[in-house]
Amino acid sequence: MSDSTILKVAVNVPLSRDFDYLPPASGPVPAVGCRVLVPFGRRQHIGMVTAHAYESVISAARIRRCSRVLDENAILSDPDLWLIRFASDYYHHPIGEVVSAALPALLRQGKPLHPTVERVAITDSGAQENIDMLAQRAPRQAELLEALIDAGGDGLDADLLTDTLPTWRRAAKRLGEKGLLSIFEVRAEDFDERLASEQSPDLTLNADQERALEILRASDQFGVFLLDGVTGSGKTEVYLQRVRNILEQGRQVLILVPEIGLTPQLVARLTDRLGIEPALLHSGLSNNARLAAWRAARSGAARLVVGTRSAIFTPLNKPGLIIVDEEHDHSFKQQEGLRYSARDLAIARAKRLDIPVILGSATPTLEMLQHCRNGTYEHIILPARAGEAKPPVMRLIDTVRSPATDGISEPLAEAIQKHLHDGGQILLFLNRRGFAPTLICSNCGHIAGCDRCDSRLTVHARSRQLQCHHCGACRPLREQCDECGETVKPLGEGTERLEESLRTRFPDVAISRIDSDSTQQKGAMHEALESATLGHANILVGTQMLSKGHHFPNLSLVGIVNADQGLFGTDFRSAERMAQSIIQVAGRAGRESRPGEVLIQTAFPENEFWSTLIEGGYSQIADDALAEREITRWPPFTRLALLRSAAHQKADAHRFLDVARRHLAAEANEALRILGPVDAPMARKAGRYRAQLLLQSSDRSTLHRALRILRPMLEADPSARKVRWSIDVDPGELF
Ligand code: ADP
Ligand code: ZN
Repeated sequence: MSDSTILKVAVNVPLSRDFDYLPPASGPVPAVGCRVLVPFGRRQHIGMVTAHAYESVISAARIRRCSRVLDENAILSDPDLWLIRFASDYYHHPIGEVVSAALPALLRQGKPLHPTVERVAITDSGAQENIDMLAQRAPRQAELLEALIDAGGDGLDADLLTDTLPTWRRAAKRLGEKGLLSIFEVRAEDFDERLASEQSPDLTLNADQERALEILRASDQFGVFLLDGVTGSGKTEVYLQRVRNILEQGRQVLILVPEIGLTPQLVARLTDRLGIEPALLHSGLSNNARLAAWRAARSGAARLVVGTRSAIFTPLNKPGLIIVDEEHDHSFKQQEGLRYSARDLAIARAKRLDIPVILGSATPTLEMLQHCRNGTYEHIILPARAGEAKPPVMRLIDTVRSPATDGISEPLAEAIQKHLHDGGQILLFLNRRGFAPTLICSNCGHIAGCDRCDSRLTVHARSRQLQCHHCGACRPLREQCDECGETVKPLGEGTERLEESLRTRFPDVAISRIDSDSTQQKGAMHEALESATLGHANILVGTQMLSKGHHFPNLSLVGIVNADQGLFGTDFRSAERMAQSIIQVAGRAGRESRPGEVLIQTAFPENEFWSTLIEGGYSQIADDALAEREITRWPPFTRLALLRSAAHQKADAHRFLDVARRHLAAEANEALRILGPVDAPMARKAGRYRAQLLLQSSDRSTLHRALRILRPMLEADPSARKVRWSIDVDPGELF
């Protein structure tokens, strides 16, 4: 009986349940996967129908009707909704918020799947208007009119106009009244799969690559394949050829990449080799472009889809393969709201769809390696660089014996000189932006700190500012100490200082700094990378941004300026993270014919970490770390969830966690350890006190049962009102 259908609706509110509604009084019952407008409290909310039911706990008299159905047909299919529900269950996050994270912005806002866009165009009489005369009276109007004349009959997209002439609407109003322009709506453009004019032939694979491809080709069903190959071993080449097979079967491929801004090279390579331009999904797109790509993935019009983290939720019409490139990268884990790992969701989704998933990395996470040891995932190793390239040679520079001045020791300076002389390119890696991480008074020793965080302020010399890199607070840089009035001096170095010192040492050399400060402007990143690739810059100075996946053909020397930051890290993942970051950046050296050299400045050359890394490589570090974690019972041998709270009063942050701990008391046993509450490693951030409670379990189901009990209790507890809190399942870092 359709008139008794109850709609289970996911509404974007922070409560862990569906809400029951009746369909609208007239019209068809919205299908599962349609958006609806529903009354919620005193407001109207957009919700997603996740199921139909025939009874409700709400009495017939109290159940409300949804106000309107927003989609004629379901925009999400059963497997799409399955993934949303899975993410909601696994991360213990309200389903309405998961739906919201999964949809492109325009759909989240209730816009139609195929929206119209506003365009502005000149009219015939507008084209006759005397611009010069108009410019004298009304320069803004003249400017707009001129832009529209240039654009011709189709006019301009209103959003684009807003980017170039932010106040155009006021001018347009006057011009419209005079009949000189018209504003109208047209259907938003569809994604248009462009074909490359030429397609490069496949490379002849080497024996290791052949074997890898063969294993991958053997399975069109679910399986997790960890493609573990040293940097430059030709992983990309292998999956390019696998992607071609899948496309030839008429199925789609989804490739997840860490940060799209950092991977234009991959996109260019895909286009060049597969002959089609992928549909892109990332935060740098306009809302319309993003929705167009989403629609094309959903309809199957886009065969190849490349996107960042949230693209894992993109519907696919005929999915055939998912690839997670640089599986180890932290950016696959979202650090706020729905704290999901796109890699882990990729595996879950592939299983549900019964398709293979390939994880690629030169430095795989211990979690994935352990799965390979257990035999649940397949480990495919590419042990050597492809083609002619040799592995880079790594050496340590002892900064106790050869101290660094402004970041650079004599041996490093000499090596830079030598490589410059030989026509090589140099990359200096320092994972700290700004001029100096500390400002200290030479008289009283006072250190400039953030008022809102437990942190030091970073000196930014060029913009003459002191910045907090944790909360964004900013204040002018002064020459005198706030406490005693004596002269202050910047201590330590960031990329800005390093760049300056290099310019002094090598005045005639082209130096390019690449970090989030130098690439703030739109397109700056792309430009800097292109110029680096073409070899216009001889020395590159940069942060983590420079270490990811880039291919600089001429790069022969990598200098790691300060390797000691992670050596004594407190997080259980410190060694793994540090090895990953060093191997990744070292992997930029010597990728073509020039042999690569890697110099690492450290004050602790005797530390065992170095001999392990240099002699045994990443795999030895990983083996040792796994052995240690097995003994100390850290992941992947146990499972973690972190309950975080933050409040203006420290006591509130702790009280909330005490409540949580009490709720869990009945659950705690040998299989579930509860540690804390304790202050977070950075106890105060952006004016809030932060505390945490760690749940650790030897098996997943115990942990999840506890969280399932905990979440609704916390949602209802009065102590929650004074805090911001979150549950982080499989946390990346313990702070
Ligand atoms: P990875 O993804 O493992 O870093 P790539 O696939 O980017 O490696 O390959 C590194 C370099 O080696 C690229 O310049 C690529 O063109 C080249 N290459 C890869 N496979 C081969 C091969 N079989 N023969 C010759 N060159 C290759
Ligand atoms: Zn701060």
